[in-house]
Amino acid sequence: MTNLFEHYLSYGSTDQQTMRDLAADFDGLVVPGTIAAFQAEGTRGFVLSLSARSSDPYMIDSRFPLFQNQLRSPKKAHLMLADVLGVPELVHSNQLPTPSDFTDSLIDTVAQRWIEFNVGFDDVKLKTFDKYAARLNEPVLPENRQGPLAILPPYTMVGDRGDGWASVSDRLWEASMAYATSNAVSIPLRRVIAATSAGMWDDIAATVKHHELIAWISDLEEFRPESAVELYAYGQAIQRATDRGQRVFALYGGFFSVLLARYGLVGSSHGIGFGEHRDYVELPTSGAPPARYYVPRLHKYVPVDIAQILWLQFPQLMACECEECRTNAPASLDYHALMRHSVRARSREIAEWATLPTSDVVDRLGRDFADFQEAVSRLVAPLNVTKRADDMYGHLQMWAGILQNLG
Ligand SMILES: [Zn+2]
Repeated sequence: MTNLFEHYLSYGSTDQQTMRDLAADFDGLVVPGTIAAFQAEGTRGFVLSLSARSSDPYMIDSRFPLFQNQLRSPKKAHLMLADVLGVPELVHSNQLPTPSDFTDSLIDTVAQRWIEFNVGFDDVKLKTFDKYAARLNEPVLPENRQGPLAILPPYTMVGDRGDGWASVSDRLWEASMAYATSNAVSIPLRRVIAATSAGMWDDIAATVKHHELIAWISDLEEFRPESAVELYAYGQAIQRATDRGQRVFALYGGFFSVLLARYGLVGSSHGIGFGEHRDYVELPTSGAPPARYYVPRLHKYVPVDIAQILWLQFPQLMACECEECRTNAPASLDYHALMRHSVRARSREIAEWATLPTSDVVDRLGRDFADFQEAVSRLVAPLNVTKRADDMYGHLQMWAGILQNLG
């Protein structure tokens, strides 16, 4: 495991092959509760055999803010997660749930059932384990399977102090701690703080005493110009948490989260092909990632057709030395190769950037911005392509500015 920055992948049911191929390029897995509940046996077989092979840790995220939404036409996975949590009425299909729906008895049931689910997660049929272990093409022993690294008790997304959700989150945490203590649960509990703004996240983190925290700022998109203020506030929040002695891991994060390693962020998780940020309101709709090419020097996925045009005209800007790319054009990579390339690129970004002095990061981002700006100005392509290409690199300058201000 790299000590620079913990690189986790969020497991989606379409990623199994990519994950099996890439064990050396990531440090751990985040398993969404929806998938763990819905494809229960298969997910266990996959996760347990993979972690038995590599000893990579995994954690299961309850995706609980899903139940703060009105689920007009709930998916099977939503219903099954509510069942796992012992409260089918968590699925509100007729109206938006409110904090008052979360009674003490509901919270106790959810807390207890989620801990039980985590504690029992390594309990899998031998037949299932063997089926998934066989796909790893090397001997993997069922006795090497392990439980989750930590239990992440359910939590809610908090908009502001007055919205009532902060206290639901507090009560879920307290009920979970009480249950774990009285039942001598040996897996440690780790608190997730989820907020719709970095300021709110900072406010909550400052009031809790826990050392290990997991952060989720809803819809914190790293590329939009409008995100600059939020990204700066996020960096400050991480700096403050680190100063308080807290160790923060990001539930969702792209390359910008890697840059926050210098301020104390210890790691982040991302989906393969997407999932570098997440808006809790969109949780009910999730699907497979589109086939896009991750441009290492942009730290961004772009449509394959544009990546191809840039690659042909500016090969030095688009070069990637990973074993998928080398001399292969973006358009020649198949779906799994695109996904493997993206994970390998992140792994290399961590090695190259996590400990680079901030002034070097600022210089390098500034140079890459200028190089792309110049290249796009000379790009020979239809107007609609040059327009799209022109929107692709502005974040490099924005990130440089944010880091300069954070110091
Ligand atoms: Zn590559």
